[in-house]
This record gives sequence, C-alpha cells and structure tokens, in this order.
Amino acid sequence: MTADSGELPAKDLRTLIPEYAGLARTTTLLNPEPGEPGVRESSLGGELLWPADEPWPYCAQEDHWTFGSDPLNRTEIVPGSVPMVPILQLYARDVPELEFPEGKDLLQLVWCALVHEEDPGPVMPRLYWRNEAEVVAAGALSGFPGVSEGEYDEDNMPEPSTLSPTTAEDCPRWLDLPKNIWDTWEPRLRNTAGHAVWPPDSNIIGTKVGGWPAWTQPADWPDCECGHRMEHLLTITGDIQLGDCGGVYFFRCRRCPGLPWDWRFDCH
Ligand SMILES: [Zn+2]
Ligand SMILES: [Zn+2]
Repeated sequence: MTADSGELPAKDLRTLIPEYAGLARTTTLLNPEPGEPGVRESSLGGELLWPADEPWPYCAQEDHWTFGSDPLNRTEIVPGSVPMVPILQLYARDVPELEFPEGKDLLQLVWCALVHEEDPGPVMPRLYWRNEAEVVAAGALSGFPGVSEGEYDEDNMPEPSTLSPTTAEDCPRWLDLPKNIWDTWEPRLRNTAGHAVWPPDSNIIGTKVGGWPAWTQPADWPDCECGHRMEHLLTITGDIQLGDCGGVYFFRCRRCPGLPWDWRFDCH
C-alpha cells in the first residue's frame, strides 16, 4: 500500500477508534427460524398468550389497503375490519438480559400488516407487557383471530418462527456515532479524495433486543415526554421483508411510570 492510495487500514472501528469500543453493549439476538411456535413459547409471528377478556386489536387507520390476490388492483380495507397480526412474543426466561417492568415477564408486539398510504412500513404497532401466570390464571384466548389472504401485505407479515436467543457484543452503527466521536474522527478518516471512508462498524444487523438499533438511515432516537432520550428496546430487521422499510425500532423510557414507549422505522 502506498501513501497515495488513501486506503484505510482494514480494521474495524473498535480498533481504529478507542472511544467506539467503549460504547459496546450486550444485545440478545433472537435468531428466528421458521417453525411452529406454541403460545407458551417466545416467537416471531407466532400466536400470542392473550387474555381472553381483552379485545384483540384492530387497526382503525382509514388509509390502509392491500394488493390482495391481484397485484394490479389495490383493495381498500374498511378501517377496524382487519385484525392486527402478532409480531413478537418474548418470555423473560428466554431473554434474561432484558429488564422487564416490575411484575411483568411477557412482552408482546402486534402491528397492522396492511399497506398504509402515509407510511411505507407497518404501522400502528402496539406493545404489551404482561404477567404470564396472570394471563393463564384468568384464561387465555383460544379462538385466535387470524387474517385471511388479501388482508395483509406479505412484506409486513412474518413467517411463524421459533427463537433461539444468543447474546453478543453490539456497537452503534456509524450512522449513530455520538457527535463528539464523529467530530473527532470523521476528519481523520478522509482518504486522499477528501471523502470520509468508514471501515465496517460492529453493529449487528438482525432482530434483536437491547444493544444498539440497526439503523439503515441516520439515527432518529425518540425523546420521552420527560425530556430524556429513550432507550433502544428492540429492532426488527432482516428476518421479515418489510417492503421498502429497512427496519422497525422500538424504544422505551424506564425513568417514567406508565411504561412509555415509541417506535421508528426507516427505509432502504
Ligand atoms: Zn392498518
Ligand atoms: Zn420518560
């Protein structure tokens, strides 16, 4: 290699930037594999342990539709007529790194799997923290509301999958580097053409809990009403199609009562 090439050493950011290594956090990779997860198992796209006395959520957006069976003709869907679909169910025993709210040991996520005019990704996600024993004692829903063909967009619909969680060290995407690191290092990583050249980062792209968001686009962290930036709760990416969507990211604030949470998605 010559001094003129402008090539940067083939090292990852952890080696190149000492401060970057300090940002490492433990993440739990969910490693979904298509299967037949039971209602008492953690799953992606599997049936949820749902309280029988709680109405299943429906999307009330007025602008949602699907191509259904005819790719040339979109079918408008009456608001409130199509059930949301199960996305994720996590039992605390399977994700010991995830801190559950007091008294809770079950996390569930659903969203509307139709296409929405305003947003390219799945919308109206809802997050639920529950207590498994309480749901079982009070009675779990048995007639699970399924969606029929033509009532969802395939891109927003995960294949039922079992999970085999593993932990790993996760660092931010370079799109998510704190400003002080960016300002210090971006000028040093310029090649002879004047472009910043970023070596591979150590962010893990995949469906995961904790760690850092696997942003496809520049970071877009939500702030809580209390004024603090929310924490990354989980990322869903790579394991389902998500159409033009790069990933869907969920955040929470543990400082506030009421378990506030928010979500973001980005595009390829
Ligand atoms: Zn909808
Ligand atoms: Zn807060």
